[in-house]
Amino acid sequence: MFNKISDRIYIQPPEHYTDRPNIGLIKGERYTLMFDAGNSGANVAELKNRLESQGLPQPDFLVVSHWHWDHTFGMHRWSAVTIAGKETNSQLQKMAQWKWDDESMAKRLETGEDIVFCDEMIKREYQDRNLIKVVPADMEFDGSMIIDLGGVTCHLVHIRGPHSSDAIGCYIPEEKFIFLGDSNGKDLYGKPWHFDIEHEEDFMDETAKIPYDDDLVKEYLSVLDTFDFDRCIGGHADIMTKEELYSIFR
Ligand SMILES: [Zn+2]
Repeated sequence: MFNKISDRIYIQPPEHYTDRPNIGLIKGERYTLMFDAGNSGANVAELKNRLESQGLPQPDFLVVSHWHWDHTFGMHRWSAVTIAGKETNSQLQKMAQWKWDDESMAKRLETGEDIVFCDEMIKREYQDRNLIKVVPADMEFDGSMIIDLGGVTCHLVHIRGPHSSDAIGCYIPEEKFIFLGDSNGKDLYGKPWHFDIEHEEDFMDETAKIPYDDDLVKEYLSVLDTFDFDRCIGGHADIMTKEELYSIFR
């Protein structure tokens, strides 16, 4: 169910069992933009149904926050124009060639191209991994891009941050709101950490041990400082005030 945040912003909360992130919907007078794609065709089918049953429009534009599977693997099932940052898109082009049999997935864990947490969650989301389809976006941008939806604008900005170097945010100045994707999170790919699906309850404790990269955080906050916002939301959490976001890094 998409929760109404304002007349122009709706958010489908995250679904942690298969690591589905929150999905943002920004509704203008002429167009609707969705922020993040869902992690599978099944996820997208549910999202489409929820929009329909809630009387909300289907998106005209679909923007992905960064390349991680949980934010992008639903892309192929939307009929919207899909948009990604340049760095995200080159990674999606690479991943479109990946194979999803046990051997190929195990190999990517060895090379560090993927991590145990995502590997397990992908297997849980997809009973049939033949259904996995990765596609690059229809449009890519380098740096920033503004989309006027009619009475409300989405400023797509490459904000980087400590989680993933390709991360983009969606800043909506008329609402003083930013969708951060996972950009404020830890880098789960950079340093080894322990995940055991039999002990999912340890997830928060284990990820808490991963250090933030201070230089990346500093650079990230200097980018965020340029936006006039009151509230924001990360990819798998609740809405925060600006103050709450900054306090994470103190
Ligand atoms: Zn991520």
